[in-house]
Amino acid sequence: IITLAIESSCDETSAAILKNGREVLSNIISTQIELHKKFGGVVPEVASRKHIENIDIVVQEALEEANVGFNDIDHIAVTYGPGLVGALLVGLSHAKALAYTLDIPLVGVNHIEGHVSANYIEHKELKPPFITLIVSGGHTHLVEVKDYGEYEILGKTRDDASGEAFDKIARAMNLGYPGGPIIDKLAKQGNKHAIEFPRAYLDDGYDFSFSGLKSSVLNYLNAKKMKKEDIVVEDVAASFQESVVEVLSTKAIKAASEKGYKTIALAGGVASNSALREKITQMAKEYEIDIKYPPLVLCTDNAAMIGCAGYYNFIKGKVSDMSLNAVPNLKINER
Ligand code: ATP
Ligand code: MG
Ligand code: FE
Repeated sequence: IITLAIESSCDETSAAILKNGREVLSNIISTQIELHKKFGGVVPEVASRKHIENIDIVVQEALEEANVGFNDIDHIAVTYGPGLVGALLVGLSHAKALAYTLDIPLVGVNHIEGHVSANYIEHKELKPPFITLIVSGGHTHLVEVKDYGEYEILGKTRDDASGEAFDKIARAMNLGYPGGPIIDKLAKQGNKHAIEFPRAYLDDGYDFSFSGLKSSVLNYLNAKKMKKEDIVVEDVAASFQESVVEVLSTKAIKAASEKGYKTIALAGGVASNSALREKITQMAKEYEIDIKYPPLVLCTDNAAMIGCAGYYNFIKGKVSDMSLNAVPNLKINER
């Protein structure tokens, strides 16, 4: 089965071709990061316009690189939410037009389900059930994957998402956008025990909170500025990152051990964080829990992960019709 997948939920225009759901024949990603950098974040209107310029080119490239023609495609998978409504509509309209013209099924995909599915591409042996820790720009969820496409949310953030916290802290220190990779890199030169930032365990449940940590870092930076003292950005980055990573790792392992799972799969942009990967892997050893994560290109937004999730929808008969609309606030256990 050949899948053509399209993703345009935020600031990456991407198209991919997959064979039988897990084999990636091409995965073309056109990122708009440079375009949004000067604004310090994604500007929705600018993103939509850029998607319109890019979408056709990206799809053509995906076909060429995979050496696949339109007539070889069995179905189209497309992100229909969550994300920016204008951005989503560009990919969705393109996918609908293609599905209609080629007379093949259209499969709507939940973007967050896509992030989780990136693990299936990298780990060919991975099958549900397992625990997934979804840590992206807009989400922080601890989820039981009961079967393909079947999720039970154990906990989620009550305020900021983990990626958002990275981006906001980087912005407060004028480090650039997106903040996650920059903080990750700076933290390697810093001391993670230099500053004692708070860790929000929230009565030991599975929910998260990062806004207290963010305030604490901002207060620290302001106090330093008032006193005209030097800020060691590497130490702030390392200490902030350690606080995030420690809470994420502890809660994910607690969920897996309490619910009796032996595998935790990391998903989303923050899954590329080197400290998170290292810490959770090391902490999990004691519990004989296996930690899996996708390679860097499959952690952040890409169409291959959407194609993989779409393939499992397709073989389960979950196809969409031409009335499929963008759902900006779509939840992971909704369709
Ligand atoms: P969502 O998937 O929730 O809709 P999104 O698509 O914008 O949001 P992703 O593409 O999954 O989010 O990830 C982008 C986020 O990942 C950004 O917040 C970015 O700072 C963060 N990120 C990327 N690399 C790293 C890293 N090495 N360490 C920490 N955070 C990172
Ligand atoms: Mg992005
Ligand atoms: Fe994403």
